[in-house]
Amino acid sequence: MNFDGKIALVTGGARGIGASIVKQFLENGAKVIIADVSPDGEQLMEQWRSQGKEVAYVHCDVSRENDVNNAVSVAEQQFGKLDIVVNNAGIFPRADLLQTDEAFWDRIMDINLKGVYLMCKAVVPVMIRQGGGCIVNMGSLHASIGGEELFAYAISKGGVVTLTRNLAHALAKHNIRVNGVHPGWVASHGERALMRAKGEDEDWPEQHSSVMPLGRLQTEDDIANSVVFLCSANAGQITGQMLTVDGGLGFSML
Ligand code: NAD
Repeated sequence: MNFDGKIALVTGGARGIGASIVKQFLENGAKVIIADVSPDGEQLMEQWRSQGKEVAYVHCDVSRENDVNNAVSVAEQQFGKLDIVVNNAGIFPRADLLQTDEAFWDRIMDINLKGVYLMCKAVVPVMIRQGGGCIVNMGSLHASIGGEELFAYAISKGGVVTLTRNLAHALAKHNIRVNGVHPGWVASHGERALMRAKGEDEDWPEQHSSVMPLGRLQTEDDIANSVVFLCSANAGQITGQMLTVDGGLGFSML
C-alpha cells in the first residue's frame, strides 16, 4: 500500500480500531487528521509527531454539524486537500427494545448514523472539486444479524449500509468511491470498557474465542487492514461494497 501524498481524515481515530487505521495510514505515507471527542487524540498526535509523521488532531463530535464542518476545514487549511475519509466513530451501549428510551435511541442514531451523513455532506463538495476521493464507513456484523441487546445500534449500522450504497451510486460519476467494513468482534478500548462494566474477567477475549470459526476475536489491525485496502489503488474498481471481517462469525450464525 502506498499513500504518499494522500490526506486521510479518520473519525474516532483517537482509540480502538480508529487508532489502528491512523497508524496504518501514517506508516504507509499518508498525512492524517484525527477527528475525535477524546483528548487521547491529542496525545496520539504528539506520539506520531515525535516519530516524524504529519498528523493533526481536531476536537470533533461527529453528531454536530459545526464540528464536522470545522474538521474538514482544518484538514483543507493544514494539508491543502482531503483524499480519504473514514467514518469510524461509533458507540455501542447495550439495550433491547424495551430498555431503549427516546434519548438513548437519538444518541446512538446521532453519532453512528447522522455523524456519517454530516461528514459525507461536508466532504463530498471538497472531493468533487478535487476530481475524486474515497470514503469508508464503519458498519457492524449486527447490521445484518440484528442483536437483541443491540437494538438501536444494529439499526443505526443498517442505516450506514444503505447510506454507503446510496452514495456509491450517486458519486461514482465524480470518481468518489464509497465502501464500508463490517467488523465482527474486537476487544477494542470501548468494548473492553463495556465488558469490564459487565464484570467480565480481563481474559474474556480468549474465553470467547471459541465462538469464532477462525479461532480468535478480530484485532484492531485486522479491521484496519481492510479499511486501508479499500482506500488503496488496489481497490480502485470497488465501490458500494461492505467487506465483512468477522472470522466467519456471521455465516456460523445462519
Ligand atoms: P472504541 O470505543 O474503542 O473507539 C471509538 C472512538 O470513537 C473513540 O476514540 C471515541 O472517543 C470516538 N467517538 C465516540 N463518540 C464520538 C463522537 N460523537 N464524535 C467523534 N468521535 C467519537 O470503539 P471501536 O471498537 O474501536 O469501534 C470503532 C467502530 O467500529 C465503531 O463505529 C463501532 O461501532 C465499530 N464496530 C466495533 C466492533 C467491536 O467489536 N469493537 C464491532 C463492530 C463494529
